[in-house]
Amino acid sequence: MSRRDDIRSVMVASRAFACVECGRCVAVCPMAEMYPNFSIEMSPRGVIKKVLMDADILSDEHLWYCTECNAGTDVCPAGVSDRDLIRGLRHLAIVSGKVQEVRTCQGCGEQYVPVHVMEFISERLKEEPTEFLNMCPACRRKVYLMRNA
Ligand code: SF4
Repeated sequence: MSRRDDIRSVMVASRAFACVECGRCVAVCPMAEMYPNFSIEMSPRGVIKKVLMDADILSDEHLWYCTECNAGTDVCPAGVSDRDLIRGLRHLAIVSGKVQEVRTCQGCGEQYVPVHVMEFISERLKEEPTEFLNMCPACRRKVYLMRNA
């Protein structure tokens, strides 16, 4: 299967082809408060649009800002799973060797790329960044939820 087919499979599995470009996932996205340079390009809508325009999404740095919080999925009228979309494309980018700074999660052993989210965490959680810095988004969320249960 070609890389283009792989991307298509991620789009199908996440229902991203059903996107109606309503912008709700952009409106609720916490990245708007996290990043001063937030733009629609970082959002699920932006990512979907680039795939549809046949851009080289696996090399696109905007793929790496999302926290995988899934807020967009909760409000999507088309049933798009933003988390599955972003996670699937990130996996393809990693196995394609398209990205640098790949780390291995100390929680689950999955590979992930920490760049932008890690910058945010380092800045905001200065007193206790270590455990979060060494975890992929899924494990980071688990720890966060356990702490706040
Ligand atoms: S909320 Fe869903 S349908 Fe609306 S822009 Fe985002 S992914 Fe597309």
